[in-house]
Amino acid sequence: MALLQISEPGQSRAPHAVRRAAGIDLGTTNSLIAITRGGRCETLADSDGEHLLPSVVRYTTAEVQVGAQAYAASVEDPFNTVVSVKRLMGRSLEDIRHQGNQLRYRFSAQPGTTPRIVTAAGEVTAIEVSAEILKSLAQRARAKLGGELDGVVITVPAYFDDAQRQATKDAARLAGLNVLRLLNEPTAAAVAYGLDQREQGVYVIYDLGGGTFDVSILRFSRGVFEVLATAGDTALGGDDIDGLLAEWIVANAALGSDIDDRLQRRLLRAGKRVKELLSTNNIVGLDIARPDGTAWQGKLRRREFERLIDPLIDRTLVPCQRVLRDAGLDPSQIAEVVMVGGSTRIPRVRERIGGFFGRPPHVDIDPDRVVAIGAAIQADILVGNKRDDDMLLLDVLPLSLGIETMGGLMEKVILRNTPIPAARSQEFTTFKDGQTAMAIHVLQGERELVQDNRSLARFELHGIPPMVAGAARIQVTFQVDADGLLGVSAREQTRGVESSVIVKPSYGLSDGEIERMLRDSMAHASEDVGARKLREVQVEAARSIEAVTAAYQQGGRQLLSSQEQHELQSALSRLEALYNSVDVDAITRAMDQLERTAASLAERRMDVAINAALSGHRVDEFSGQ
Ligand code: ADP
Ligand code: MG
Repeated sequence: MALLQISEPGQSRAPHAVRRAAGIDLGTTNSLIAITRGGRCETLADSDGEHLLPSVVRYTTAEVQVGAQAYAASVEDPFNTVVSVKRLMGRSLEDIRHQGNQLRYRFSAQPGTTPRIVTAAGEVTAIEVSAEILKSLAQRARAKLGGELDGVVITVPAYFDDAQRQATKDAARLAGLNVLRLLNEPTAAAVAYGLDQREQGVYVIYDLGGGTFDVSILRFSRGVFEVLATAGDTALGGDDIDGLLAEWIVANAALGSDIDDRLQRRLLRAGKRVKELLSTNNIVGLDIARPDGTAWQGKLRRREFERLIDPLIDRTLVPCQRVLRDAGLDPSQIAEVVMVGGSTRIPRVRERIGGFFGRPPHVDIDPDRVVAIGAAIQADILVGNKRDDDMLLLDVLPLSLGIETMGGLMEKVILRNTPIPAARSQEFTTFKDGQTAMAIHVLQGERELVQDNRSLARFELHGIPPMVAGAARIQVTFQVDADGLLGVSAREQTRGVESSVIVKPSYGLSDGEIERMLRDSMAHASEDVGARKLREVQVEAARSIEAVTAAYQQGGRQLLSSQEQHELQSALSRLEALYNSVDVDAITRAMDQLERTAASLAERRMDVAINAALSGHRVDEFSGQ
């Protein structure tokens, strides 16, 4: 689980200039944009006064429609109207197939490339579709603030992986937006309620939207939000309630079993309307036109509605139980529960979830808007509109930190996204017999090979007592303080000799560089695995040569016949000739050959050693215990 990243302290800014910033909730069903002005946060409406923009984009030969207009056409024109595009972000065609019901579009299948949806206006990727939604929202903020936006914060689910986050950033770039930060949705909700202004606490964020349910447990302490656990159901939300109500209408209006697509959609929309009205009314009337031209009038009471949806609410309690278990907490340890998502407007949901966690949930901020508002608060801070001492100190390591190990490999000690301050130790050992010094090369980055990462510092540890290779225990400790200062120390465990260095990581890199490094690490992932394998084999081969040569020189030679000596020599030279090549298989074979040949030498050296130890003792001294 990736931990949160929020802000980098000390970003420079021009004095006096108020910058234009916005927070964007790019949702599966609905999206919103919010801004902060004069210390107050507000979501922005379109020209019809609607704050929620349906996350729907329709491509016709003439134009691209976004929002309500596209939503209205989604029944008539399903192939050209993209809904729930968030489910496709950062996903391959393979991933999408696994989601099952998402194949409503025609994809132009090119295995291994970004899936493209075939529309009347040509092929589009999920990134382009999302960019349309972002453009439409940004336009509201531009109009309101009177100019280009300096930066935006976009929220993503806490469980979004690197590919999904990167796709979100790419969509923003395509929309011409400067992303200050991606922010986890549950964190944004917690920020909107000011839970980051408290000393510390553990919070549950319960988010029931249109088609997805997410629950997260966040821990806030020392200025950092940490995601302790997340769970949910990617196919559970308000849409299912609409479905239950459609079924209820079918049964009560005696519509029979012959329901075509068109009628079904009509029923779903009627269901949605009734559901939303029942959040504020105790009884709602329905008037349904039957296919035969007759009409059915009925009414639904809130009590009956609640009985219908209780099983669905029960289903959300299973992930709630799971996050508590995963975080190792019981409900009494939860300080606050925050409600997010349009479906948590339903009073029964609030009541049941409050009951489950044993405390009334936060509902003061409109649950549809709370994520966008939290994002806007963060955006305002990150763009530099607040005094430094108002600034939240929520930070994580943007890139992993580690050291170089044999063969030019990067061994990560603290992983990226770890909240700071952080400290972690790892033990390393010597490569050669009698090695008394060790060079420590501190690196930053995600790649497997040293040369592809950034070199931060080098220092040496001297005074390691001479031992056989691999016996020395050198503990290397990385420590990053709250200001982002890195200290690395190395300590030899038996004699206690120590050496250390202080480096300043992360701030030397611009966001662009960090991004490039992350992108490179993803692009080169499989290549890196191959390179790592080769380096490992090369190191192992060098180690074998070293060990066999040493054994041979330290009296081993006398133990072998001239025939055996010859075989060993030729196996050695074969491996010596090969071990720096790039042929993993050839090196492995030569290494196996050398080890087989050397096995008898090792056996005989062992016999000699045992005989030496036994000499002067009777055999029965050692037996019978
Ligand atoms: P998402 O995060 O998935 O984009 P939202 O948080 O906007 O979705 O939630 C959308 C869902 O909320 C829809 O199913 C909608 O019907 C439901 N919803 C909106 N308002 C109400 C209401 N007053 N009562 C019940 N459900 C509502
Ligand atoms: Mg949402």
